[in-house]
Amino acid sequence: MDVVSYMVWFVVAILGLFIGSFLNVVIYRLPRECLSVWKQTRSRCPRCSVQLRWFDNIPLLSYVVLLRGRCFNCGKRISMRYPLIELFTGLVFLALLGIDLDADRIAWFDLTDPAWRVFAVHALVASTLIALSVIDIDHRILPDAITKPAIVLAPALAFLVPAAVPSSFWRPFAMGEWSANLNALANGVVSAAAASGFLWSIGWLGSKAFRKPAMGLGDVKLFAGMGGLLGPWFLLVLVVASFVGSLIGLVVMAIRKDRYVPFGPFLAFGMMVVMLRGEAIWKLVMTWLAPR
Ligand SMILES: [Zn+2]
Repeated sequence: MDVVSYMVWFVVAILGLFIGSFLNVVIYRLPRECLSVWKQTRSRCPRCSVQLRWFDNIPLLSYVVLLRGRCFNCGKRISMRYPLIELFTGLVFLALLGIDLDADRIAWFDLTDPAWRVFAVHALVASTLIALSVIDIDHRILPDAITKPAIVLAPALAFLVPAAVPSSFWRPFAMGEWSANLNALANGVVSAAAASGFLWSIGWLGSKAFRKPAMGLGDVKLFAGMGGLLGPWFLLVLVVASFVGSLIGLVVMAIRKDRYVPFGPFLAFGMMVVMLRGEAIWKLVMTWLAPR
């Protein structure tokens, strides 16, 4: 690898760490509505309420080197999850870089290259899903403050960067310079409506059958956002999420004896897999189902 490539990998890793640090703020503050995500207040120690110094906020480094996992003032242990979420986000960004751009494009580092736009969309979606998943695990909710804007933003992103999502079979706009963009938009809008209707009906049937709410409205809104971005591919997300979710769910229930397993993280995983490799998965499924 040449110097430029190393630089690009390094900068993307640092970017991922800082986004991860911001996600920690979102995850902590968003469900606690008295705290603002955007207001410029530095994080405080939950025990002694001392404000962290600016250099305590450097992702990963502060935790490991400066603080050694403790509050500098009162010595209370700071949860491992903060550096872990930063690290995870950094690794996801690196993985996406490797998936979306080949070695030549990274070495060339031309930001007008459309592949960078694809990477930007994937990184944005991944970041949103990380925040949603952790909040779902912590509080068993998917906050409206994220899911509602996502429903509007998703078809807009599909329109702006259609290459970021698998292409759909329904192509009402066959001709013209903008046909790919308009097709992605049309698929997104129709699928957002279909996804919410579909999932809401399943939830409704489930609540009738089990006499308690089977699915939160948060899941429905997240699904609408997924449909808005992926078009009809949202159905494959449900398949992947249910498959992985039931496998891991069984293990978790066996270990923890806890009946509740949040579905959000599995939807997030399914969303990433289908967004990145939906067409390949579909081909695989079709090969299995094909008569021999
Ligand atoms: Zn403290």
